[in-house]
Amino acid sequence: MRTPLVAGNWKMNLDRQAAVALAQAVCARADATQGVDVALYPSFVYLEEVARTAAGSRVAVGGQDVCDQEAGAFTGEVSSAMLRDVGAVTVLVGHSERRHVYGETDALCSAKVRQALAAGLQVCLCIGETLEEREAGRTEEVCRTQLLAGLEGLSAEQMRSVVLAYEPVWAIGTGKTASPEQAGEVHAYLRGLLSAPFGQAVADATRILYGGSVKPANAADLMAVPDIDGALVGGAALTAEQFLPIIDAAASTDR
Ligand code: PEP
Repeated sequence: MRTPLVAGNWKMNLDRQAAVALAQAVCARADATQGVDVALYPSFVYLEEVARTAAGSRVAVGGQDVCDQEAGAFTGEVSSAMLRDVGAVTVLVGHSERRHVYGETDALCSAKVRQALAAGLQVCLCIGETLEEREAGRTEEVCRTQLLAGLEGLSAEQMRSVVLAYEPVWAIGTGKTASPEQAGEVHAYLRGLLSAPFGQAVADATRILYGGSVKPANAADLMAVPDIDGALVGGAALTAEQFLPIIDAAASTDR
């Protein structure tokens, strides 16, 4: 049985005080709620403080990105070891803003995944098609390429530390959500893809989150879909008023 996961990607939002206050509220709700895992992805500069705030709670804290290299002359980058050192246990890789605003390739994402796993971090690998790709009927092809490239060379054992997030680019930050049917189709397709390289047990056990304008009003319907194992949330993760009901929706979904 897959425990749903609700993850908040704060992106380049919230100042120190707001980040800590929100983390406190999320930890309190997560600790009072059974049947759902919760993760927060603050900015690098507040990560240590948020991780300290969450210490001892059920909330996992992670980086929004990580360097593909272990250490050295990579100005502006943050290594997996550094993330671990400040209390991160998980990291996002291949978020659509990294892919489409900063031009990250599948090869780079794959190197990041391997680097993070080798350092003992859990990875949330994000994939998803653009509107143009969807309209051209290329959703499955694009998602398959990103998925298989991102996970290339991993063992079934390493897959225990991987979560996938299907985030159609056209739904991120736009207010347009994929319908439960649209998202469910892609999630089922992605799960099917995992069995050839990793075996049926891994395919069955891997959590696949949906991301793209998840709000309190649509969370329950999305998470009722059998292959949707939680949500990666951007805008609605920035306030307790919006994020806590999404945690509640995941916890009360019949699995
Ligand atoms: C995201 O950035 O991962 C995301 C899903 O954002 P939003 O919820 O704002 O669409």
